[in-house]
Amino acid sequence: MTAKILDGAALAQELRAEFKLRAEALAAQGARPGLAVILVGEDPASQVYVRNKVNACAQAGFHSEKIVLPADATAEALLAKIAALNADPAIHGILVQLPLHKHIDADAVLEAISPEKDVDGFHAENIGALTQGNPRFIPCTPHGVMKLLEKGEVSLQGKEAVIIGRSNIVGKPMALLLLAAGATVTICHSKTADLGFHTRRADILVAAIGKPRFVSGDMIKPGAVVIDVGINRVPEGQPDAGKLCGDVDFASAKEVASAITPVPGGVGPMTIAMLLANTLLAAERVAARQG
Ligand code: NAD
Repeated sequence: MTAKILDGAALAQELRAEFKLRAEALAAQGARPGLAVILVGEDPASQVYVRNKVNACAQAGFHSEKIVLPADATAEALLAKIAALNADPAIHGILVQLPLHKHIDADAVLEAISPEKDVDGFHAENIGALTQGNPRFIPCTPHGVMKLLEKGEVSLQGKEAVIIGRSNIVGKPMALLLLAAGATVTICHSKTADLGFHTRRADILVAAIGKPRFVSGDMIKPGAVVIDVGINRVPEGQPDAGKLCGDVDFASAKEVASAITPVPGGVGPMTIAMLLANTLLAAERVAARQG
């Protein structure tokens, strides 16, 4: 069997074209959607992510602001910036690029973002709303995965979904969304005993681990749908060293799965598309309130 490719790059492009039209309609009412992205320090991967997000905004006709603070910026300086953006009517979405340096309390920073502008969906109030099944903003990466599954016409009701990874950004919200869609959900993590036992009974397997090519074909149930969230560099000494790869060993997995997301070109572009979706939603809500 060679798996069908769930093409995140193509779907993201389709969605972004639609978002551009919606942004133009808002701009015509004087309410152009605006996103502020805050980067603290000069982590190279974070710089790439921030650049991609800002470029995506420009292409979709959004207003965007990139705010770069030095690596040794204080928590107070960051919180003051967030307070100013919370009060800025041109900004509908605020995103602080993670991870933050250890000297800053990331939870306190995320809680300082107005829940109405929390387009990453990481504020405790928004996580609570998601948990209750009434989300204000759905976190971008798991939201992108759900859109890919929908586009691929993957049925979820009554299916066994297994997620590897329990982070607040990916694993946990992913579990909530799959649960809401009627799947029976298992979350595995670094302390799980016999990971393969769980993965081999998954109809839908989501890998969000951060370990290159960790999930091999023999860990996958024949015919499963495999979603690879990982973004890693291929380690030295392996073929394609230095290139991007996922948490799934694509070569062996595609021979077993019925459908699979590639890396790059799978979940990554969908994450950015969903960031635009949330920013647009925030702007549309403000415009609707203002009549
Ligand atoms: P994280 O480090 O916060 O969490 C990793 C999880 O993997 C943890 O819950 C841990 O328990 C689990 N884990 C680690 N080793 C394991 C093992 N041997 N067996 C089972 N579970 C194990 O990472 P994260 O922020 O959730 O990100 C995961 C991956 O997804 C990373 O590669 C990251 O770069 C990528 N990511 C991609 C996107 C995207 O847009 N595609 C967005 C966010 C994160």
